[in-house]
Amino acid sequence: MSIAYPDLRTFLAEIRRDLPEWLLTVSEEVSLDYTATALALALDQQDQYPILFFERLKGYQTRLVANLFASRAVLAHSIGARQETFIEQFGQKLDSLVPAQVVESGPVQEVVWEGAAVDLSRLPIPRHFLQDAGPYITAGMLATRDPDSDVGNLAYARLQVKGQRRLGASLHSRQHTWDYLRRAERQGKNLPVAVVIGAHPAVMLAAAAKLGIDQDEYDLAGALLDQPLPLCRARTVDIFVPAQAEIVIEGHILAAVHETEGPFGEYTGYVTGRSTHNVLEVTAITMRRNPIFVDIIPGHSAEHLTLGRVCKEAWVHKRMKEALPFFVDFHYPNTGTHFHCYIRIDKSAEGQAQQAAQLLVGLDHYVKLVIVVDKDIDPRDEDEVLWALATRMQADHDLTILSHTLCNRLDPSSHDGLGAKLLIDATKHSNFEAERVLLPDEARRLAEALLVRRQSL
Ligand code: MN
Repeated sequence: MSIAYPDLRTFLAEIRRDLPEWLLTVSEEVSLDYTATALALALDQQDQYPILFFERLKGYQTRLVANLFASRAVLAHSIGARQETFIEQFGQKLDSLVPAQVVESGPVQEVVWEGAAVDLSRLPIPRHFLQDAGPYITAGMLATRDPDSDVGNLAYARLQVKGQRRLGASLHSRQHTWDYLRRAERQGKNLPVAVVIGAHPAVMLAAAAKLGIDQDEYDLAGALLDQPLPLCRARTVDIFVPAQAEIVIEGHILAAVHETEGPFGEYTGYVTGRSTHNVLEVTAITMRRNPIFVDIIPGHSAEHLTLGRVCKEAWVHKRMKEALPFFVDFHYPNTGTHFHCYIRIDKSAEGQAQQAAQLLVGLDHYVKLVIVVDKDIDPRDEDEVLWALATRMQADHDLTILSHTLCNRLDPSSHDGLGAKLLIDATKHSNFEAERVLLPDEARRLAEALLVRRQSL
């Protein structure tokens, strides 16, 4: 008996049927290298964020999906949330995990490559930027298990193709996978791993989350999907994989083996060689029949920035709300990679902007510029934020600089992991007398109607 669980292909089929404007299908044959990156970045520039579906890649049989996470509307839709409340709903799910369920077998093992059949070059793994060291798997979720407690972990790591059965891996964020490997190495063991490529977007979103070390991201996927995620055992390593995943690469991260990995185009928009220089040796590749390969557009693409940030946003948002009754919301503009944040407050006393800004940089050490605005300014609208800056801020008393603070090491202007924070209070002070120009509601409605009519011509 087969039960229909949410998976990538049913998700895409639903989008194609119900929201076709969210999907851009490329049906002509195109070359694998650089195409998805170039197309996604060109669309970003036009403020367009469709999912990209490549039906025919020169030299490959496999279809490729990219830019799944560029649009917040798609993200919210994937967990059944509305875009406006997505961050709050995601935050609630972090506290209500649903344990995954082990099943006998799954379509992810319909096709099995083992022994001499293992060959990474048969998968459509693209090159993304000119300076990259080679083709990279960017959407690979590393499923591992804590060598001591056996709790599972799911996390992204960039993977450079180095041979038929060899990948370079960077665990540079030094989180759970890195910690597992360190402990396995102390026991003189390799770390078993299954690289999951292509699953329901909720699973991919869960993999971007940072949970406690005693929590399994598969259980967050269950919470996001409102049902336990079905898992089956990988064939050559003692690791569970989503039964409905598209492709799984099984193998080991080698203990105490280091080889150059990178350079690679990271989210700052710059090339980086920062890496833990690990090596992943492949033992098997399994997949569904007619699989879909997934690529996350790297560099400072909307997709990479959005996926890299949503979980942290949910976590920070919740804490700001708890601590500050006057906090309304915030926005991390993609123009600032992960380093800028605009906060909106409903100000009732002087000093609140400063308090909000300091709390935010305390919660999120990546942020180096905060602009605090009043409740009449939409932080998602950068033009409005800059207008508030132009008309409500005086540089001699609205700027605060905090120096020698922890920052993100990928910021190319930082040194030794230290940087400065600039906090800008662009809210109205108590002696502010100017009044915003207003229009009658009726005139605004008429203008909107006139514009709609114009668009339909
Ligand atoms: Mn974890």
